[in-house]
Amino acid sequence: MKLLCALIIFLASAFAAAQARPYPGPDLPQLYQHYLDVVNNIPAFDHHAHPGFADDPDVDAMAAPPGSSAFRERDTNPELVTAARALWGYPYADFSPDHAKWLVQKKAEMKKQYPGTAYFNMLLDKLNFDRGVANRAMMPDYLDAKRFPWVFFADAFMWPFDNTKTAARNGDQKVYIPLQEKMLKRWMQQEKVSALPATLGDYLKFVTQTLEDNQKNKRGIAMKFEVAYFRTLHFNDPSREEADAIYKKYVKGGVPSDSEYLTFQDYIFRYLITEGGRLKLPVHIHSAVGIGDYFNISESNIMQLENILRDPRYAGTTFVMIHGGYPLEREAIWLAAIKNVYMDSSLMEIAMYPSSFKDSLRQWLETFPDKITFGTDCFPYNEILGAEESYWLGNISARQALAAALAEMVSSGEITDVKAIEMAHAYLHDTAISLYPSLSH
Ligand SMILES: [Zn+2]
Repeated sequence: MKLLCALIIFLASAFAAAQARPYPGPDLPQLYQHYLDVVNNIPAFDHHAHPGFADDPDVDAMAAPPGSSAFRERDTNPELVTAARALWGYPYADFSPDHAKWLVQKKAEMKKQYPGTAYFNMLLDKLNFDRGVANRAMMPDYLDAKRFPWVFFADAFMWPFDNTKTAARNGDQKVYIPLQEKMLKRWMQQEKVSALPATLGDYLKFVTQTLEDNQKNKRGIAMKFEVAYFRTLHFNDPSREEADAIYKKYVKGGVPSDSEYLTFQDYIFRYLITEGGRLKLPVHIHSAVGIGDYFNISESNIMQLENILRDPRYAGTTFVMIHGGYPLEREAIWLAAIKNVYMDSSLMEIAMYPSSFKDSLRQWLETFPDKITFGTDCFPYNEILGAEESYWLGNISARQALAAALAEMVSSGEITDVKAIEMAHAYLHDTAISLYPSLSH
């Protein structure tokens, strides 16, 4: 009898909030404060970011070409003054050259006070980050590998031939292609491969060897593609014979036609993601709008990847859609219905203000809350404003938007307090960590 009573009470409370309403109630401001406290106290895992100093070329495998930034992402954003104030006690209201000197000096002092890896560790502590991904060309000695797991770039394997034609396509490619060529050379040096192997079979061996070396010896936790900057995200399915023939034709020189190069890349991309499954090395793919004047939004639209994501041959590969397909995030979340596909919200919390990001995040939380992860996409803006300020803005924006989305959902009777707290932990930390066995301890 006692047990039955307990069961009835349990069921009553479980269903108490089961009638969702279209409007939040008057408890919304209170709930927002409550969830802000909850959310601020959760140590986060930053699933996508580019920590490093502005003069460090390895912060990314590519460089920013000319082009306009979205309003909030410009270094004129006054919120960055707030960031500098919160992080370092910056005493001014703008970044006039005279005032900016203070900030440069202050950071130089802090670097002395926190030598070696201590500086960026101190930053993670300030942000209440347990750990944060470093998606970089290579790792520097000033980042602590225990707190900054490395995500390396895998695009360069797709550009082994004479790239003159691709580089000449537009100003952006002129910036990107030499950097991809440099990256491939670095992988070759690392694996002591002095020239392109004579056969595709041996080339693929070199690719695998690099992935394994990066994973085992350099503790890389995932491979990242920013391929959307260079070509369409739609990958056809060529045969090994086709890829073999193209490799044989151009390994010693000569410029492949556009269609030959695309076919070869289609093959290599599929090889890489298959290896990602075999090695349990998750695959991160830039899936949002990009910078530069020539970034092709329709060709790089996240839905172009659907044939890959829904292909049962890659069911063993974990895919993380970096930047959540923004600005198509409302459609993109439905790709997370696929068991091995996850969404990362980095960049979205910076491209949008918290009031808009809150709405996107709420739709995600209402759809596949167990498949979404937090990231900042922090990046050094320039010599004055660094990854530090960018980290701060991404962190505070995401936490505010998350608290607001949860408050609305609870106030509207969609979820209980317990569920809201579970969702906050999953989004900020637990879901991403669960993708990397080497990180769970
Ligand atoms: Zn990024």
